[in-house]
Amino acid sequence: MRLLLIAPPGAGKGTQAKAVSAHYGIDTISTGELLRREVAAGTRLGLSVREYLDRGDLVPDPLMRDLVTAAVQEADRRGGFLLDGYPRTLAQAEEGRRWAREQAMPVDAAIYLEVSPPELLRRLLGRSGAEGRSDDREATIRHRLEVFETTTRPLLDLYRELGILLTVDGEQSVEAVTADILAGLSSGS
Ligand code: ADP
Repeated sequence: MRLLLIAPPGAGKGTQAKAVSAHYGIDTISTGELLRREVAAGTRLGLSVREYLDRGDLVPDPLMRDLVTAAVQEADRRGGFLLDGYPRTLAQAEEGRRWAREQAMPVDAAIYLEVSPPELLRRLLGRSGAEGRSDDREATIRHRLEVFETTTRPLLDLYRELGILLTVDGEQSVEAVTADILAGLSSGS
């Protein structure tokens, strides 16, 4: 099973990623977590991405590619992956498709968690400070939501055209969202 999870900040990506990966026995690869780990460890990559994360801007595509490629290859050898947070730009999506074709690693579905912007803002402001993230000040939260709308949302059309988009209502209970994702995946819709 090879899955992409595309959702705005605050939609519940982390929670759903864990539940769905556990169900299929596959690895979750969270690009945000990978990046925050690099920053915390003070690696060369961490030093160069830190300012992007702090501002809520996207990390440049070339830096993302190397990080994601290595993680995906390793997870795929173990049976599959759920990629949480990648791709986030059309360039990343195109590059990812090209790479998946070369590696003969077709993606089964792109899951989109749909949550309205006011609800996202409410959730993000509500948990602000709780996770110790450097990007959860109000101005940065608003900026991350904007980046999703302008840069990431166009990817949904791409996956819809490819026939692999699964849209799920993310404003239900955590359990109901997970159930909808699993039902959608097993019906292949
Ligand atoms: P959220 O969805 O709440 O913004 P993430 O943990 O998924 O949180 O991502 C945190 C940050 O990591 C992003 O704001 C961005 O700076 C960086 N990041 C994560 N994935 C990508 C990606 N695919 N391309 C560029 N930057 C990324």
